This record gives sequence, C-alpha cells and structure tokens, in this order.
Amino acid sequence: MNLLALTPDGSSKHCCSGLTKAVAPACFLLVLTVLLAMIGGSGARAEAVPAAAPQLVAYDMRVAGDEIRTRVVIEFEQKPEFSFHLLASPHRMVVDLPETLFGIDDDVARSRGLLSDIRFGLMAPGRSRIVFSAIGPMKPEMAKVIENGAGGGFRMVFDLVAISNTEFDTLMHEQQWSGSTPRSGKSGRLAKSEPEAKKRFTVAIDPGHGGIDAGARGRNGLQEKDLTLEISQTLKGILADYADIRVVMTREDDRFVSLAERVRIARQYEADLFVSIHADSIRLRGVRGASVYTLSDKASDKMAQQLAASENRSDLIAGLSLEDEPDGVADILIDLTRRETHLFSAGMARSVVDSFEGNIKLINNPIRSAGFRVLRAHDVPSVLVELGYLSNVEDEKLLRDPKWREKTAVLLASAIDSFRRKTRSVNN
Ligand SMILES: [Zn+2]
Repeated sequence: MNLLALTPDGSSKHCCSGLTKAVAPACFLLVLTVLLAMIGGSGARAEAVPAAAPQLVAYDMRVAGDEIRTRVVIEFEQKPEFSFHLLASPHRMVVDLPETLFGIDDDVARSRGLLSDIRFGLMAPGRSRIVFSAIGPMKPEMAKVIENGAGGGFRMVFDLVAISNTEFDTLMHEQQWSGSTPRSGKSGRLAKSEPEAKKRFTVAIDPGHGGIDAGARGRNGLQEKDLTLEISQTLKGILADYADIRVVMTREDDRFVSLAERVRIARQYEADLFVSIHADSIRLRGVRGASVYTLSDKASDKMAQQLAASENRSDLIAGLSLEDEPDGVADILIDLTRRETHLFSAGMARSVVDSFEGNIKLINNPIRSAGFRVLRAHDVPSVLVELGYLSNVEDEKLLRDPKWREKTAVLLASAIDSFRRKTRSVNN
C-alpha cells in the first residue's frame, strides 16, 4: 500500500550512467569520514550529529533463487517510499528512491538467478536509483516493504519471475501496476489470447548437459553432451522444413546451462512443447533402448527415479547450490495440478513412442515418469527422451552411427509434428 506509483517514463533510459558497483560503498565511507571529521574536534559521537544525517540508509542486500524465480531483499534503516518500472533491451527493472546512502557490501551476489547485474547510486540531488539487469524478460510478482521485528528497520522485498517476451512487451506498454502485484499475468504467463492462436507452434529443444557437465560417458568414450547436441541440431534442421513449426534451442554449443535456465528459455519464447534429449547410463548394462519420461511427483519405477536423480545432479556438477532456491520440489507438486499440461506431456510421450515403434528399439514400458527438474514448466508440456543407454555397448554403437542419428531425428520431428496437429486441432 505504501508503494508502486509506477512511472512509465521514457526519461530513465540513461539510468545506468554514472552508477558503478563501487560507487555506493565508497560514497557511504566518504560520508562517514566527513561526518567523523566534522565532529572529531568536539569528541561527540556519530549519532549525535543533527539533521545532516542522510534520510534513507540501505545497509544490506541479499539475492537468492534461480533463473525462474529470484528474490531480492534490501534492508533499510527507515521506511523507503519507492516506485519502479521496467525497461527493455536489455531487460531491467528500475527502482526509484529518495536520496539514499547505500552501505551495501560489495560481495553481494549481483549476478544470480534472473539477475545479471545490480547497480545503485545517486541519480540527482534528492533521488537515488537501483537498477536490476536481468538475463531475460521478467517482472516483479511481489514488491513490498515489510517492517522488521525486534531488530528494527524495514526490508524491501522483490520476487522477480521469468516471463515470456510477449508478456514483458505488454507490461512495458501498460506500465500500470496496482497494489503489490502487477495487474496482468497471474501465472507468470499471459492468458491464452488471440496472438497465441496465430503464433507458430514453438518447440524448445533441449540438448541435455553441456560444458562442465558432460553427462554420461559411453564405455567407448562417447560423451552424452556431444551426442545430445548433435542430434538436437539435426532435429532442428529437419524441423526447419516444417512451415508451421518454430524451433528454440536451449543451447547451440558446448556450454553449461542450468536446469532452471532451460525451463526459463522455453517459457520466454512461449514454447508449446519442451523436448529434452538425453542418452544416459545406468548400472544395468544389459538394459538398452529408448524411453520417454514425463514429470511426476512419484516415480513410476526405480529406474525412472534413479535416472531423475542423476539428471537433477547436473546443477550440482557445475557447483550451483540449490539450498536457497525459493521454489523447490514443493512447486513441482503444485505445478502438477496443472492437469492440462500434464495430459499434453503424456500425449507427447505417446507420440514419440508411436513414432519410434518398429523403427527404434524401445525399453519395456517405454513411457515412464519421475521428478525431473528440467520438466517443471507448469505451462509447457514437457518430455525427456532417452535415446538409448551409453552404458550398453550396442546402444553406444548405434548412438554413434550418423545414419541412426538422422533416422531418430526424423522420427522425433514427426512425433513433434503429430503432437502439434493434435493440440492445434483441440485448441482451434
Ligand atoms: Zn542425461
């Protein structure tokens, strides 16, 4: 109630100029030094200084979360009045404050989750600003000031969530917010509107692993991350011939992409389908063949459970910490209530198996489910395809074979197209 007079001004384009990471603490120290010098002769204590003291002091900032949801908490000594607005190219959120002294440590994680940078400083006499730069379109789902308990002071809390390009554009145009939440896009995605119906069917192809996370390794040395990238690129090439299908890739080269970032990319481009490509390894070396997984809170079987646990380790391999993620497994469970997405995911799994049947060897009961973090977009039907097992020598031989790869990519493309036709005929 105390905030959010959003200013849709174009005047803030140069908001970053003059602000540097080092300015705020340096400024704080400088002012302190001046204050101490002023009072040094009299032996008075700092708090005895009269009205010259700054009106607003921000003394701490914490950032937590992942590429889907990031929380920023800023501690103030006094209650801050503030307004904020969004800026595009690059995606930013600007928070305007009365003149503020920033005594925030330099070691605050300024690039974490959705944020690539945070800058703050003086804009003009009487006006300070914080600029949050993001890795993609986002919006504050919550923005409020909360009075601290016994310790005193106030904290400003922003919950930033990843959104689609379309929703960001809409928010940019509206720039009207009320209360502590934006007016539109309750679920982090715009309601299905007419642009969606006209939009080309978009599939996000997700080559599993990458960079520091090599994934499984075949007994003869084939690396999962290379195989998934190559097949994904072949698939992309094949889908380019389908006039009604647009492809978005979560990675195009050998780089690490966190599981949350993969989901975020799919949602940024409003993917109608997310297909994660893998070829893992399991202890049972005799097991071979392809399988397709969907998200579920309870694993369909032990093998699916172990596979999900192994896939979910991807972020840990790269040294990411999951401990302070605001949305954990609990969110996956909530998301599962999105029955429609779940049914569509199951439909896609069926499409893949139908397409593979008789052409590609499948494991027994090839449609399985478990708690795969990469399948957690609640509004994008998502499947994870295991093309085979690198732990099996014969499978590895096939997975190396360019002809087999091409054939598999063609069959996957046909499964995607068949899913597209089914869902489009339901929606239109
Ligand atoms: Zn994998």
